[in-house]
Amino acid sequence: RELPGDPDTAPGIRQVHGALYSRVEPTPVQAPRVLAYSAEMAATLGLDAADVASETFAAVFGGNALLEGMEPYAANYGGHQFGQWAGQLGDGRAISLGETVNSAGERWELQLKGAGPTPYSRSADGRAVLRSSIREFLCSEAMHHLGVPTTRALSLVGTGESVVRDMFYDGHPQAEPGAIVCRVAPSFIRFGNFELPASRGENELLRQLLDFCIRRDFPQLSGEGEALYARWFVEVCERTAALMAHWQRVGFVHGVMNTDNLSILGLTIDYGPYGWVDNYDPDWTPNTTDAGRRRYRFGQQPQVAYWNLSRLAGALSPLIAVELLQDGLRRFVEAYNQAERDSIARKLGLRDCGDEDVALMQELREWLQAYEVDMTIFFRALASVEVEREAPDPDVFADAYYDPDKASAGESALCAWLTRYAARVREDATPAAQRVERMNAANPRYVLRNYLAQQAIDRAEQGDFDGIAELLEVMRRPYQDQPGREAFAAKRPDWAREKAGCSM
Ligand code: AMP
Ligand code: MG
Ligand code: MG
Repeated sequence: RELPGDPDTAPGIRQVHGALYSRVEPTPVQAPRVLAYSAEMAATLGLDAADVASETFAAVFGGNALLEGMEPYAANYGGHQFGQWAGQLGDGRAISLGETVNSAGERWELQLKGAGPTPYSRSADGRAVLRSSIREFLCSEAMHHLGVPTTRALSLVGTGESVVRDMFYDGHPQAEPGAIVCRVAPSFIRFGNFELPASRGENELLRQLLDFCIRRDFPQLSGEGEALYARWFVEVCERTAALMAHWQRVGFVHGVMNTDNLSILGLTIDYGPYGWVDNYDPDWTPNTTDAGRRRYRFGQQPQVAYWNLSRLAGALSPLIAVELLQDGLRRFVEAYNQAERDSIARKLGLRDCGDEDVALMQELREWLQAYEVDMTIFFRALASVEVEREAPDPDVFADAYYDPDKASAGESALCAWLTRYAARVREDATPAAQRVERMNAANPRYVLRNYLAQQAIDRAEQGDFDGIAELLEVMRRPYQDQPGREAFAAKRPDWAREKAGCSM
């Protein structure tokens, strides 16, 4: 139904009322070609290398063919974007192909991103450029291997067609190669799927969605009626809290934490202008369009998640009593604080984390920020500190600085901190090997630094796709030292400074 004058959306948007999704088929492309794939995800779905190499695979995951039983659709959802209600959004360039149940009995939904227009595309083309598709493909899998809940990526397929985009750095339209990522997850339901029917007073549709979501995605929850709904909301809050603690632990910044980009399963979803923290800076955001407000900066992510959960709670208020929703939000705060303490203990190599340890970590963070120190390199090196010495040598951190002047300026404060830290570690008396192992499992050696992804993109745009597979190979074992691959753990080079994510 065309409602061009709808007051809460931009003019000309096709409003889809009374429906949670629309049937739509992918638009075929000229020359689909598999550029990269995830061996783990393929294996999970029961596919081997020969399957992936087949013409059928390229055709299906390039959007040119459907397998029997696939009934593609685009989901209808709304969202709060940058703090404002944005009305109907929907899958403008994502098309779900359907679900498959693997031999282990796991159910996975397959979704193409960039497979052409849907009823929710508005004036846009429903396509994705190669660079943003490479970023989504690599980061989905890198996050998975880091142990961070995330949607997965099966394949990256080049379309053989070009897509025109306004590049953010000069504003001029440019033709770029197009690509399609096949994303995989148990569910792609977002907070915004609930917000849209609620915003329209479509309460029966809202209830239908909630019943479906609980039945399909939360089968372990028991009970019925409002009590079940409330238990489910608590679970959503807890999962979101756990996700935030993971992001803060590894230095991932999502960049567009709008409610349409938050997964009901607590998965990282919608890899757009995301970035990884190099020098530790809670104020950093990779999103250039958010540069002034910095709403979606690193240090703010848990608070924004809470804000988003509050919007979700508002949407659920026709079905769940306000007090029960408030209980859920309180659980978020408790669960986040608990997860954050667990993270601190693991990152610092302590048995558990008391109030004084929180303060010790806070002082360290202030120091890291003040002296421009690489987060990943610093925490990885922390396991090599000679804690049996009263005043440990700070040299193990020599590689972590970005600015030699700050390195010398910060040294005495670091030494003072290390003295206290070493004493605290000795108090625990954990055997060294055990402590180091625990720390190395929480402090990755390799993360998908922005410049690493950019190098793979630059090569791919010249027709060399090997950089994608090479990077993915390293990111498969982020917690292990990989001899010969030191370069992938190096801090951001000067040329990449402030080179933000990318426009989509
Ligand atoms: P995002 O900020 O990427 O989460 O996108 C916000 C909304 O814009 C979602 O509804 C997307 O599906 C839609 N969108 C983004 N890019 C495109 C595109 N190239 N074509 C159609 N819809 C798009
Ligand atoms: Mg989105
Ligand atoms: Mg997006």
